[in-house]
Amino acid sequence: METKNVDILGIPVSSIDRHTLKNNLISHIENAEKSFVVTANPEIVMTAKKNNSYMSAILSASYITADGIGIVKASRIMNNPLPERVAGYDLMVDFIRVSQEYSYKIFLLGAKPEVITQTVRNLEKYYPNLHIAGYHDGYFNIHDEEETTLIVERIRALEPDLIFVGLGVPRQEEWVAENYHRFDKGVFLCVGGSFDVLAGVTKRAPISWQNCNLEWLYRLLQQPARWRRMISLPQFALSVLKEKVRMRK
Ligand code: UDP
Repeated sequence: METKNVDILGIPVSSIDRHTLKNNLISHIENAEKSFVVTANPEIVMTAKKNNSYMSAILSASYITADGIGIVKASRIMNNPLPERVAGYDLMVDFIRVSQEYSYKIFLLGAKPEVITQTVRNLEKYYPNLHIAGYHDGYFNIHDEEETTLIVERIRALEPDLIFVGLGVPRQEEWVAENYHRFDKGVFLCVGGSFDVLAGVTKRAPISWQNCNLEWLYRLLQQPARWRRMISLPQFALSVLKEKVRMRK
């Protein structure tokens, strides 16, 4: 299951489509193998470029997918096109369905306490045969050894097949990278703000907006406070163009 990578500003993004990744992850679960999936968007790439320890966390992932049309477009500009966008939210929904069908156990880690309990309630309602082994909110100190150990031990004891981690960027990737060695099995999928969408707190952009590559604008209109973080989008575009010019020289 060797996957080819495409270099996007120093990040080896997996050249894999959603369907193939889904099958690979199912086979990891069936073989009780661990796996760590990062769904990279331009903000993640720009954060990694500025922060070495975050870069190491990202590079320790088994798969880095292109979450965000910006990454797919960058791969085209570099003449090394990625097959498609593979968003964390879409993968999560795929695996909620797969888990219900194959009786895989899932654990949810992240979001505010009231959000994660609402997420669980909604999942129980819409996926009555889904096995939710457990959940924990995301408001703990990821660098506090005692707190983290308690959470890790709890998850280990429940032996989930999949662990969805929605602690926000960069905490979620750092948490998985720091604790991965403590687990014997499990697919760790970083899902950003997906629990908020499942809880009905935020909305995903309608498909028509996604097709016009305007998901970023939809998010900005819903959460105007994100504008500061979105500055990484034009910075990313500029870095890609500079890299293209450098490659031509
Ligand atoms: N979050 C968390 N712990 C924190 C900060 C954020 O669990 O200390 C959660 C937050 O509640 C949300 C998710 O991480 O459910 C994504 O947060 P945000 O929108 O800030 O980040 P992004 O989607 O850009 O990764």
